Amino acid sequence: MSLDLAVKLQKKGLMLHRLIYVIFVLQRVAVQMVYKSLPWKNTILMIIFIVLCAAMEEVLALFSSFNNLYALRIIRFVQCAFSSIMIIFTEDNTDSGTMVLALLIMFVVDLALTFDITDKSYALISAGALGGILLIVLMIKMTVYRDNEWMFMFFAVILIGLILLSEAYAFAEYIKYKDEELLNERRKFENIVEKNENILNMQYKLRNTNDQLNIQKIDLQRANKLIKESNDEMKVQEDILRHIASSFDVPNISEKIVDSIMDVKKLGFCAVYIKENVYHNKHRHYVVKSKIEEMEEVIRKHMEEIYYTMLRTDSYEKIIHEDLESDMTFLKDYNINSVYVKVLGDENDKYGLFMIGDSKLKLFDDNMSFYNAITTQFNIAISNARIYNDMRHMARTDGLTGINNRIYFNELFKETAEKIVEKKGTISVALFDIDKFKNVNDTYGHLAGDEVIKRIASVTDKYIDEHDGFICRYGGEEFVAVLPDRDLKEAEPIINGLFEKLCDQVVVYNGNSIPLSVSVGLTAYPEVCDDTEQLLKRADWSMYYAKEHGRHQLKVDDGTIEKSN
Ligand code: GH3
Ligand code: MG
Ligand code: MG
Repeated sequence: MSLDLAVKLQKKGLMLHRLIYVIFVLQRVAVQMVYKSLPWKNTILMIIFIVLCAAMEEVLALFSSFNNLYALRIIRFVQCAFSSIMIIFTEDNTDSGTMVLALLIMFVVDLALTFDITDKSYALISAGALGGILLIVLMIKMTVYRDNEWMFMFFAVILIGLILLSEAYAFAEYIKYKDEELLNERRKFENIVEKNENILNMQYKLRNTNDQLNIQKIDLQRANKLIKESNDEMKVQEDILRHIASSFDVPNISEKIVDSIMDVKKLGFCAVYIKENVYHNKHRHYVVKSKIEEMEEVIRKHMEEIYYTMLRTDSYEKIIHEDLESDMTFLKDYNINSVYVKVLGDENDKYGLFMIGDSKLKLFDDNMSFYNAITTQFNIAISNARIYNDMRHMARTDGLTGINNRIYFNELFKETAEKIVEKKGTISVALFDIDKFKNVNDTYGHLAGDEVIKRIASVTDKYIDEHDGFICRYGGEEFVAVLPDRDLKEAEPIINGLFEKLCDQVVVYNGNSIPLSVSVGLTAYPEVCDDTEQLLKRADWSMYYAKEHGRHQLKVDDGTIEKSN
């Protein structure tokens, strides 16, 4: 950069150099003309020297070789060498000597300029200028010494002045260049500041966009989570629906629903309670799932009470947060902070309770549609199961007495007998028939007879159920009682008890007291009957034996009784 400037300066200095050379020559010729005594040899040598110096520069200019630094340096160096030789060998050491010295300084400065301009160059240029001033002083002094030869002094002053001018110009150009460089630097700096500001702006915008993207990302993640959750919920509902459609087994359905909810929602607990006699269930039904077994037990204990409290207070749905209400304090030790309870059933028919809870606060504040859908599906399932169970119950029970009919009994008996055989257990079977029942019908009427049959059925059902057995209406006024896992020794007192109980019954109908009597036959597998399929037959034989031997008695099979003819 600074080398480019040096070359530029030297090119610009070319015109000035030409002027200096011309003045120099003119001065020499003038001196020679005035002082004719001076030897021409000196003047010619000077002129040759000047012409050579000028010629070198002209050649350089002609071939535009100022840009070639090496050529320029060589020329300047040769010019310096020539000037030095001239100073040493000129006899005239007054004005011409001084002028050649000035030229030498000029060449030295120009030579210096061909090198990189640094602060050292400043020093060199300044030194050159100082030298020039000294020379002016020297020359003035010499000219004065030459008897006021003003004309020569004038030439010399102009020449040296021009040299100084050229160097001052170079210096000024240099300063200007430096200034421009400084300005450029400042501009660059300003540009950088501006760019920096732009970059900061961009950065700010980027950060803003980034923030927005992050927010969008979070929103997306949230939406994704919600979609996943509702997808899971839908899957569970679909699963439950499929299950409900393929089963009327209420315990199984409620187990499935509770398991599915726990699977998807990962709650603290989930529980279902169904009261007795809803789907022909003799006992209450509970499904309680939680990670803490002890809590399951506590919930099971309290659900019925909560159910009846809610019925009493006509509040069929409750969401409880933080402060568990007085009827929920049993959950206090289990870090449960949100509870949702809902009575199951419709407006006219309530049958149970659905209850969920978790440690998370305000979990059931919103988004309850899932649980609402589940409880609705559950209600539908229960109502379907009830219809199914009603129909099945009707198919299995005797219309008059409500106990098992013979068709269902055969199924039940076969199933039980198979299990007994498999486990090499025992089973007792009693068959009984009302004595002289025709007389009851004939004396008190058929409806009175029906009442008797119903009484016999209900008393027997209750009694045998208490002894873990089952019964059925085997025929018109014939009944069968089965006692699984009982041998004759155990069964006899039980059946004897039944016999006495039945014979103690007095049915009052239309103001008439109707006494009762039955004849009973009892047999057992494998003690007296080695084939379960023969049990009913042998019980029948024993019963007939009792009839034939005076009625109103229990005949225990001893293995010898044969079918009477
Ligand atoms: P036994 O001591 O020999 O058994 O004499 P019994 O009179 O009871 O004779 P049997 O068992 O042959 O008679 C059964 C009677 O029961 C015949 C029938 O009219 C009557 N019966 C059967 N089913 C019903 C019923 O559902 N209601 C009424 N009222 N009577 C019935
Ligand atoms: Mg009969
Ligand atoms: Mg009879």
